[in-house]
Amino acid sequence: MLVRLFKRFFLLLLLAHCPFITRLGNFVVEATIVVATNNVTYQDRIAAFGPRLADEGLLGYLVSVEMIEANNQKGCSKLKRKAPTNQWIALVERGQCTFIEKVRSMQASGAIAVVVGDNKKNGLITMYATGDTSDVIIPSVFIAQTEYKDLRSLSLIVEKPVEVQLVKDNLLQPLLDVIIVVILSPTVMMIFIYVLWRIRQRQRRKQDIAPRQVVGNLATKIFFESKRQENEPQECAICLEDYADEDELRILPCKHEFHIKCIDSWLTTRKKFCPICKRDICSPTEETPLLSNHEPTP
Ligand SMILES: [Zn+2]
Ligand SMILES: [Zn+2]
Repeated sequence: MLVRLFKRFFLLLLLAHCPFITRLGNFVVEATIVVATNNVTYQDRIAAFGPRLADEGLLGYLVSVEMIEANNQKGCSKLKRKAPTNQWIALVERGQCTFIEKVRSMQASGAIAVVVGDNKKNGLITMYATGDTSDVIIPSVFIAQTEYKDLRSLSLIVEKPVEVQLVKDNLLQPLLDVIIVVILSPTVMMIFIYVLWRIRQRQRRKQDIAPRQVVGNLATKIFFESKRQENEPQECAICLEDYADEDELRILPCKHEFHIKCIDSWLTTRKKFCPICKRDICSPTEETPLLSNHEPTP
């Protein structure tokens, strides 16, 4: 029962950390687009090619490419018309040509960065390119469909180009996640495994030893050398000391005798078996029912 409970807890602990684990693989490329006028932020992801974003971010004016050329919404070819502003960031739609083609044609059109918006799904992907991409000198990011729709309508509604900043995500949060995953989780796991191990050990030990009440109910007698019969031992098999007159002895159901002190501590802390014949003192027999009181044998 307890084990099952702990197993369930471990599973929950693992599941709870899954988002952190999945974030680990891509925390270096996550970024944000901040709209300067209202400080609204949009999550994006930096492409695998082209330069990284500088620490201070990149400030520019977001221009939906269809504003410059209505038939070039996807930015697959170099613009024939000039952008309405310098320092402009091209907002293009995914599709029709490859990501790298979009970035190259926008770079050739004078853009300082490219934002590619998804036209199908909501979810971030990393834009990859094959071959040599060293000619790409402007950064590019990918945004999901909802964000793209928002930014696109914003750039179409507002007459002036929208001032935005492309920023790298703060690495602190992902780093904290890393610390949690790499250090804290195993520690928590180890602690629980240890606690579980201790509980099971205690349970096992409890099964191995005899309850004090049962031991206390076993028969006792006072030893007198003069009363000792010939076949009776004269020393305690636990402490190996000879019995002295008036020593208190405990008599086990198997009739073996020991110092009360010695056998009680043996039965209640080590084993519930007679140290000589290994008989379980807790298992009731016909002659010695459990918890029955015995008169000391003379
Ligand atoms: Zn003894
Ligand atoms: Zn015995």
